[in-house]
Amino acid sequence: MSEQKTKTAETQKVFLLGNEALVRGALEAGVDYASAYPGTPSSEIIERLSHEAKKRGIHVEWSSNEKVACEGAGAAAVAGLGSLAAMKNAGLAVALDFLTHCSLTGLGDQGGSMVVVVCDDPDAHSSGDETDSRWQARFAYAPMLEPTNVAEAREMIRYCFDLSREYDCYVFLRSYTRLSHGSSIVELGPLPEAKKGQAHPDCSAAVNPYLGKVHHVMALERLAKIKEVFETSKFNEYFGPEDAELLVIASGNGVSCGREALEMLGLEDQVGLLKLATLWPFPTELVRARAKQAKQILVLEEVDPVVEVLVKDALNGTEAASVPVLGKESGHVPMAGEITPDRALDALGKLTGKTHQGPGEAYQAKLKQITDEMLISRGLTWCPGCPHRASFWALDKAVKAEGGEVYVTGDIGCYTLDVFPEGKCQMNMLHAMGSSIGLASGLGQMHKFGWDKPVVSICGDSTFYHAVLPGLVSAIYNQANLVHVVLDNSATAMTGFQAHAGVGYNAMGEAAPKIDVVKLCEALGVPVTVADPFDIRGATKALRGVMAEGQGVRILVLRRACELVRMKADKNKPYKVVVNQDKCKGEECGTCYSKFRCPALLKDPVTGKASIREDACPGCGACASVCPFKAIEIQEVAK
Ligand code: SF4
Ligand code: SF4
Repeated sequence: MSEQKTKTAETQKVFLLGNEALVRGALEAGVDYASAYPGTPSSEIIERLSHEAKKRGIHVEWSSNEKVACEGAGAAAVAGLGSLAAMKNAGLAVALDFLTHCSLTGLGDQGGSMVVVVCDDPDAHSSGDETDSRWQARFAYAPMLEPTNVAEAREMIRYCFDLSREYDCYVFLRSYTRLSHGSSIVELGPLPEAKKGQAHPDCSAAVNPYLGKVHHVMALERLAKIKEVFETSKFNEYFGPEDAELLVIASGNGVSCGREALEMLGLEDQVGLLKLATLWPFPTELVRARAKQAKQILVLEEVDPVVEVLVKDALNGTEAASVPVLGKESGHVPMAGEITPDRALDALGKLTGKTHQGPGEAYQAKLKQITDEMLISRGLTWCPGCPHRASFWALDKAVKAEGGEVYVTGDIGCYTLDVFPEGKCQMNMLHAMGSSIGLASGLGQMHKFGWDKPVVSICGDSTFYHAVLPGLVSAIYNQANLVHVVLDNSATAMTGFQAHAGVGYNAMGEAAPKIDVVKLCEALGVPVTVADPFDIRGATKALRGVMAEGQGVRILVLRRACELVRMKADKNKPYKVVVNQDKCKGEECGTCYSKFRCPALLKDPVTGKASIREDACPGCGACASVCPFKAIEIQEVAK
């Protein structure tokens, strides 16, 4: 939270980001321990909590992955503390291994509490997928609530801590991009006195899921009790006439979009809207009671038809069983992507025949023309001076030199931008964090089945600690043939420069042991080569060298700090880089601006010659070595 926000926070209504509202609610609930691995749209939760950590005596950490974050938070809860673990949707898959067990055991007898915040990314704005974490609550036997707006997020997370304590289980709070990154006015509650909670794990009691069947029954009994509570929860609300024949049931972002659409169509007095915030266990009686008078039900939600399926299930076998439940499965709402006011208008229009007169095509065309003039479309590409651009350039050269027959597997991070048209499109397969080495590990055994091409897997430094290590150990142990490249830019850059085990400081910016990728790999007994990606020739040579070695696991660390990290530390450019206009061949060549594509490189629309935008160029000098005519010149800048 910004200084201004925290100053006013004690007494006033303030304007907060959704993730900040969650932080405020957690602080009001007296959270003692918070952990996460960064992932958009969840990252601000730990970042903002880290600002409060010292003054409020809270342990805040960036854990090496989401499972570790949940295990730490689970242990804190077993020790009687209030804990929070946060992640994005993709991270929940990593954490479930622990969370499925933890909901069977509960949190022990010490009165601790634990809230797991999962921030989904409908529309996959900054994710490889838009998987819907709401299914996972049922799978994990854990309660889940979902706020509708920023103000409710603050209140709801407080309630989640209470619920967790009372029912001895962790509680999921599901957020989503429009909530986590939306802002609104929030009325604040009082903060408890800042003091460290007293940890008291009960060493005499085992907390383990063995006797899984017995624990399963206990978890089901717990969920049955929570269901009773959810049936009358104040977070579930009804708007509209009691005798509405058309009932909209909405959750999350669907609530605001539904209300907006009803207002635009002038239907608020005719159509009912049931806002559902307690998603699992599902409040079936509440839905049945509201469905009784309805002749049609429309469900507004985003991504998967989770609520829709649960509503149908709830009505099955009741007198409302024949009421049509419409939504995604009926085609009234698209199956993928976010719910928007337009989508809600469209669905309601189909059912009521009412239409809303929007701004019209001419207006939209004019708007597009104006924004096209104002904005330059550059596509998705690396920042000026990003070492990954140079790394992939070197990889491209090395692969071509090997006759092009190299299979490249990728990981998740800034280097994922390689797969977009503005990248080098080197990666053949890209999945989850750690999958780079896991996939390569499999491909590295294919020589036994008649396929013997070089395999290169690529990860970043943060993902190396997150999930690559176990895969690397497995690849070495099983003697896979592969080259593993760590693009070590000393940053978790894509999500906002959060600390990780290799940077030498922790979530609060305090000094921390620096775990060196090179030493760690050397300790595993495999050959390790280090090269600088900005020395493109050297990096290409190093890549070709490790590929030529042929057998077993070989590691190449392409090490160069992210330019944003370097600039923050150095406050100066290393080089002044200019294009010698006499030497530049312009469109005859175009290598720098149309192939290397650093956004600081410009093309003169008249002459076709290249130039460099000094204000955008951090002076990395990498483009100098890609110019075939030595037209890009670098001069050292005096310190
Ligand atoms: S030196 Fe060249 S590659 Fe580096 S940021 Fe400037 S223009 Fe881009
Ligand atoms: S690569 Fe060199 S010659 Fe080619 S356009 Fe760029 S500056 Fe000019």
